[in-house]
Amino acid sequence: MVITSSITELRQQRWQQPDASWGFVPTMGYLHEGHLSLARRARAENNFVAVSIYVNPTQFAPTEDLSSYPRDLERDLTLLRGEGVDLVFTPDDLLMYPPGFQTYVMVEKITTVLEGASRPTHFRGVTTVVAKLFNLVQPTRAYFGQKDFQQSVVVRQMAADLNFNLEVIVCPTVREADGLALSSRNKYLTPPQRQAATVLSRALRHGLELLDEGERSGHILHRAMQGIIEAEPLARLDYASVAHPLTLQELDKVENMAVLSTAVFIGKTRLIDNMLWQEREA
Ligand code: AMP
Repeated sequence: MVITSSITELRQQRWQQPDASWGFVPTMGYLHEGHLSLARRARAENNFVAVSIYVNPTQFAPTEDLSSYPRDLERDLTLLRGEGVDLVFTPDDLLMYPPGFQTYVMVEKITTVLEGASRPTHFRGVTTVVAKLFNLVQPTRAYFGQKDFQQSVVVRQMAADLNFNLEVIVCPTVREADGLALSSRNKYLTPPQRQAATVLSRALRHGLELLDEGERSGHILHRAMQGIIEAEPLARLDYASVAHPLTLQELDKVENMAVLSTAVFIGKTRLIDNMLWQEREA
């Protein structure tokens, strides 16, 4: 496994066999099974696999957890070796944002809602760093988790709009046995908070159940999810949403598909989760 923070070496590795396919998994490190599931899928579908580990400052607001974001590079590298990853790119801030840097990539409409409404500068940072990484790695396929559903929609839009010559592949959310979606930020939770954090998946699952039972009112679904989250004393609701999975617009009335999503503060830790619903074929 080649580990490099050099653009020259990255490009040299990438183009050693120009006709080979490359799968790419961008991450912020502190890897868990969610990240590894993406690396595994990339391994299965490509000749070579590249993973980047970079805590991207431009996607954090000044009030957020950039400085405390968990890091453990040695452990990450051991895990990636175990998955047969070929190349790990570990750039630093100077390489990604040298003095004088002034070009940003911004996707418009779909970044103004949900995470974009709560974190107005977040997606500008995400699309900028992902565009840079796509240009550097030039993968055949790039793998993202459904856990960050809006991110996957935004990245897919950017890749289409800017004609990136690659396929964006979205993989299922990996969860703990009690439903909590794996996240590097789960590390921040105290044991009682960890218990309380199951409220996100409980609320979303309840929403799916209501949809399966025939409920179609966005308002009623929203209120039901909100009620579950507000009943948890350690949780503070940021948003709950019933939206269209392609446009991310809130739905008054659900038709054949919806994405239920929520963002919740557990203490100072902000967690997100989502679940997709699709009407079963009759
Ligand atoms: P991050 O390191 O948080 O930037 O995440 C890197 C990639 O891993 C993103 O595409 C995430 O959506 C994905 N990811 C994070 N958590 C999970 C999870 N629990 N299941 C599947 N993918 C995940």
